Amino acid sequence: MEINRHYLELQDSYLFSTIGKKVNEYQKAHPEANIIRLGIGDVTLPLCREVITALHGAVEEMGVKETFRGYGPEQGYDFLNDAIRGYYGEHGVKLEANEIFVSDGAKSDLGNILDIFGQDNRVLIPDPVYPVYVDTNIMAGRKVLFMDATAENGFLPLPDRNIKADLIYICSPNNPTGAVYNRQQLKEWVDYANEQNAVILFDAAYECFIQDPGLPRSIFEIEGARTCAIEFCSFSKIAGFTGTRCGYTVIPSELVRDGTPLQKLWLRRQTTKFNGTSYIVQRGAAAVFTQEGQRQIRENLGYYMENARTIAAAMEEMGIWFTGGKHSPYIWLKCPNGMKSWDFFDLLLEKANVVGTPGAGFGKNGEGFFRLTAFGDKQNTAEAVERIKKLLTK
Ligand code: PLP
Repeated sequence: MEINRHYLELQDSYLFSTIGKKVNEYQKAHPEANIIRLGIGDVTLPLCREVITALHGAVEEMGVKETFRGYGPEQGYDFLNDAIRGYYGEHGVKLEANEIFVSDGAKSDLGNILDIFGQDNRVLIPDPVYPVYVDTNIMAGRKVLFMDATAENGFLPLPDRNIKADLIYICSPNNPTGAVYNRQQLKEWVDYANEQNAVILFDAAYECFIQDPGLPRSIFEIEGARTCAIEFCSFSKIAGFTGTRCGYTVIPSELVRDGTPLQKLWLRRQTTKFNGTSYIVQRGAAAVFTQEGQRQIRENLGYYMENARTIAAAMEEMGIWFTGGKHSPYIWLKCPNGMKSWDFFDLLLEKANVVGTPGAGFGKNGEGFFRLTAFGDKQNTAEAVERIKKLLTK
């Protein structure tokens, strides 16, 4: 009996547990402190009415013999597939029904997709980034090459033709930096991937925050992407499904390697290891794309974006360097006076009672940076920003 020893190579994820521990200890020592949390990337607004109505309707259907549903199609029901295709169509991307695979969220798909790729692939991952990409590859025993995302390149690394890669992760808008690739930059990645026969794993979990219609929301807006990219998306941030769970993956029919369509491998993987997303949840997800659903969801996204503007305006006022906040719920700022991420965390916690996320937790290039999120309550966000201003302009 042998365990998967690659799990032992994983670095313990101390980030959010350390944050939690520090905040708890501080609160215990200062019970009167009103701590405001702008740290975790979870949403705070409830599901919108249109989604709740659809969920209720589906629950009722499950209680009636004629409308009860058992196992559904592993790749999702047609009604949700059609709604997703309609959504992509709005930004000029035409997808076929067989190219969309509904799931219980982007995180599972991002991890599970590695099942269809060989062991010896060279993997290229930006640093800093959402830690799931690195950890899932380490679990699978793959070596990871990092590309530096730094203030110098606007946290948007571009391809280096001296580096050969087979799998390339791109997250745009980025977690944690909030940076967004433009069309030209994504075209460079698509050309590089096609030249190298590589596959881009494009994480579009935050596409709904893009405000500028000139910026790409999907890699498939870029010419040539259908032969080199897989896209992962989620209902978590667009519609507050972090606890409800629904996402989807797009694999174009033209994405073929070794004479095999990757879509075929993923379908086989999913039909073998996954039994579909709950009918009730898929009904709720489809409601996101009705006209009324879109209206309600835009209202919620607007609420978060106003928080982002509040934080960004304060950073500008204080002359603190930052990215994000315009097309993303994350503000990624440079810690003032050359402070290290965790030192700035302690300072904000102790002197302003505000909690953020130290950039060092997302990779080595995150050291010296700090992430604030716009997913909080409006009043609390405004209060947190005032406290930070008071502290830093002293
Ligand atoms: N991708 C990125 C970049 C994220 O930040 C997150 C969650 O925070 C996810 C994917 C996970 O999304 P889901 O809730 O659909 O699993």
